[in-house]
Amino acid sequence: MAKKIFITITCLFIGLSIVFYANEYKKIKAETGQSTKETTQVKKKEEPKKVSYPGKLDDWELLLVNEQHKIKEEPTNLKDLPDGHKIDSRIYDNFTAFVDGAKKAGFDLTVISAYRSVKEQEDIVERDTETNIYQGLPENEAKDKAMEYLTVPGLSEHHTGLAIDVLDVAWYEEGKTLEEDFGKTDAGKWIAENACHYGFVIRYQKGKEKITGINYEPWHIRYVGKENAEYMNKNNLVLEEYVDQLKKVGK
Ligand SMILES: [Zn+2]
Repeated sequence: MAKKIFITITCLFIGLSIVFYANEYKKIKAETGQSTKETTQVKKKEEPKKVSYPGKLDDWELLLVNEQHKIKEEPTNLKDLPDGHKIDSRIYDNFTAFVDGAKKAGFDLTVISAYRSVKEQEDIVERDTETNIYQGLPENEAKDKAMEYLTVPGLSEHHTGLAIDVLDVAWYEEGKTLEEDFGKTDAGKWIAENACHYGFVIRYQKGKEKITGINYEPWHIRYVGKENAEYMNKNNLVLEEYVDQLKKVGK
């Protein structure tokens, strides 16, 4: 009898121990599992978002000229387009491919303005100031009035040879010129959607006026290289924003 009781108690003890240790094991496993999960989550939060940018700050394609960045050196490698406008020779093939692409899509593009030297811009300022004086304005006011419509010499992207103003011939022949509504035409839409495939972006976007310092210009395209252009387009970035991001990651 005493033996039976002893065996029963021993079995009960062994049974309880198994249940107890099994529970403890489960707890430890659960805790370890959870803590590993937490560590991974924390780690994930700490890791900076990995973005691989196609461009580097010192790439010639990303040269920034705006109100804060005066052009340092004017280009010497210019090439004449068939109509006589000049552009940087390195973008010649890309630009002609872009014009051909537009033609295939049914749009005949014409260049309104391309490379402009600092001297030419100075001459334009002087000419418009003189016109205003001739029309009766005092000298200081005449220059201010002229500058309402002009870029300060040295601060225009047209000095780079990488910027071109293009319009559709049909639009131009209607007597219209560089107007915002060009962006609403089929040609304007085609340019906005397809310029990036040839390495160009619409430089002055709608809604980014405070960043670029320039009003929306659906006709002003700027070469930045195909990969940069595709990236900027996809992420809705203007050159100032893109360059800023590259600076932040030290590229
Ligand atoms: Zn322009």
